[in-house]
Amino acid sequence: MISKKMENFIANGSAIRAMFEEGKKMAAIYGAENVCDFSLGNPNLPPPETIKKTIIEVLKEEDPVELHGYMNNSGYEDVREKIAKSLNDRFDTNFSQKNIVMTVGAAAGLNVIFKTLLNPGDEIMVFAPFFGEYKNYAISCDADIAIVPASIPTFQPDFESFEEMLNPKTRIVIINTPNNPTGVIYTEETINKLAEILNKKQKEFNTDIYLISDEPYRELVYGDIDVPYITKHYNNTIVVYSFSKSLSLAGERIGYLAIPETVADFEKVSAGANMATRILGFVNAPSLMQKTVAKCLDSKVDIDFYDKNRQALYHGLTKIGYECTYPDGAFYLWVKTPIDDKEFVERARKYQILLVPGTFFGCPGYTRIAYCISPKTIETAFPKFEALMNEIKG
Ligand code: PLP
Repeated sequence: MISKKMENFIANGSAIRAMFEEGKKMAAIYGAENVCDFSLGNPNLPPPETIKKTIIEVLKEEDPVELHGYMNNSGYEDVREKIAKSLNDRFDTNFSQKNIVMTVGAAAGLNVIFKTLLNPGDEIMVFAPFFGEYKNYAISCDADIAIVPASIPTFQPDFESFEEMLNPKTRIVIINTPNNPTGVIYTEETINKLAEILNKKQKEFNTDIYLISDEPYRELVYGDIDVPYITKHYNNTIVVYSFSKSLSLAGERIGYLAIPETVADFEKVSAGANMATRILGFVNAPSLMQKTVAKCLDSKVDIDFYDKNRQALYHGLTKIGYECTYPDGAFYLWVKTPIDDKEFVERARKYQILLVPGTFFGCPGYTRIAYCISPKTIETAFPKFEALMNEIKG
């Protein structure tokens, strides 16, 4: 018999993963070229060429005993120092290796920081629509999740509801900008307003409210849009970063936490993250990948590829009559469904189109289209989307 908690995790599953599996089954029946799988945010671009070269270089140059052995649970000091310096150069921060904890991607980073900060019954606040896995991570720590309703159509935070909903049990607020699933980026003005409310509420409740900035899409920005570095706007910010998307290394599981000294109880939070990494069983982030990304901090994937997909999908679907949010970052298109989102996704499956319903992101009435896929799939999908719209319109 398995635990009740795990029974529930399995029963609720992940809509995204379920779709991914469904895609594989459909490909076997209809042929992969006829299946338009927009379900998973799995980059279809290869990592930049320099990654392969660097892996070989690291294998050749590093002491094999050190490279393949145990290390400080927070990661190699030299790697953390390089990341700190790169952040300081880019964002005018003041980090050193003691502010960086290497993690097994952003998913682990989030779990590490949740484990560090949360007591059972504490509350995590998120803004709809949000990455559905936050809910599972919260349940795993016996914390409650509070969802600030979406502000339609901008999908910027609804400050009025946010301020009303914050309460003495709120321990963590999560933001994710550029956002999965909307592609929306929060402006500096938005971040400042958020910080102002949080500072006010911390004083009112005499508590510490940690702002977790989940940033796997920081480098995936189209055009000249600034993505504010949040630690400079709110003292109690912890950044969760990942190389999964920026370097197409999702399977390699590498990322980090940036914990500034300005956070409340810095020494304890930092020691806690080190301990959480250990007791969650990651022990440390993959050593080869740590050394590799540290040498590739200025590299990123070819964003033009995603940009072309973004333009094609947005304009193509708008022309057919779908209402889409124009994404400024990440690689997702957020589309209003002309009928109930779950029914829409179900009907789309009949056309071999795989999507994730907005309900999974805490925002019914919408669907997410991941466009980190081949342009050919987008072309194949247009007539299907058109037929689906015609079917719905009757
Ligand atoms: N946070 C968000 C918003 C994501 O979209 C994802 C992955 O899609 C993650 C975290 C987890 O990323 P990682 O692969 O680094 O664990």
